Amino acid sequence: MLREDTQDRLIGWCRQAIRFVLPVDCIACGHSLGTDPVPFFCTACWHTIRPLQQPVCARCDQPFVSPAATTYTPNHQCQDCIERPPDFERAWTLFPYLPPLREAICSFKYRGKHTLAQPLAHLMISALPSGIDVDVIIPVPLHPARLRAREFNQSLLLADQLSRHLARPVSATHLARIAATDPQTTLPRQARLRNLRKAFEIRRPQDLAEKRILLVDDVFTTGTTLNECAKTLRSAGTGPVFALTLARTVDTALVPDRFYAKQAAQPLTTMGI
Ligand SMILES: [Zn+2]
Ligand SMILES: [Zn+2]
Repeated sequence: MLREDTQDRLIGWCRQAIRFVLPVDCIACGHSLGTDPVPFFCTACWHTIRPLQQPVCARCDQPFVSPAATTYTPNHQCQDCIERPPDFERAWTLFPYLPPLREAICSFKYRGKHTLAQPLAHLMISALPSGIDVDVIIPVPLHPARLRAREFNQSLLLADQLSRHLARPVSATHLARIAATDPQTTLPRQARLRNLRKAFEIRRPQDLAEKRILLVDDVFTTGTTLNECAKTLRSAGTGPVFALTLARTVDTALVPDRFYAKQAAQPLTTMGI
């Protein structure tokens, strides 16, 4: 039996040999990949993916701009959660939706690079909050028409890996999306809510009675989709619903300086001069 590090080295060399014949460039920086373990990304770029460090809302994880926001009130909630308490008990989101993670999620989701499922799920697992106590993991479902077009549900692939790590079952059949909706990101709040009303349905609700549910999705944009799923589950008689997303779109005030530094380093145009 080979030792684990020897095995990893052998796999790395095989990968390098294959990439010598069929070269692959890092999607983020364009450098050729060698023994790098993550498909389509070099190790240097992958290691720049870091969790957000700012204090966050104790309910929905929305980052606060002020680093002192939770100094004296660790359970401080954001204005949205205070005004309209969400149907989920707690939503955790682990990384900011910024390059190169943004490119990785887009390649995974829209360009069919499903081999990124495992490294993306490992990122999730590496940053999991402690003490997650749930009975069932449910990925946010796609409408059958979108599933046919994409051929896989990215949230199910992530949920599957999480299920192995947390030793909890994953269900892809109890929560169904019965209405094809427009992408949420382009709509204002009221339209988003209208768009999603009655978009989800519970099948065999008796299986989920009083069960603690963990909803899994790739990106948290407005939280409306997760909230609608949580509302549908709760009204069918489940126990508390929690939500976990890999990445979250963040306010520009929270984007680390290195992203602005990158933009400033680009050559200036003469536009407007
Ligand atoms: Zn790179
Ligand atoms: Zn909140």
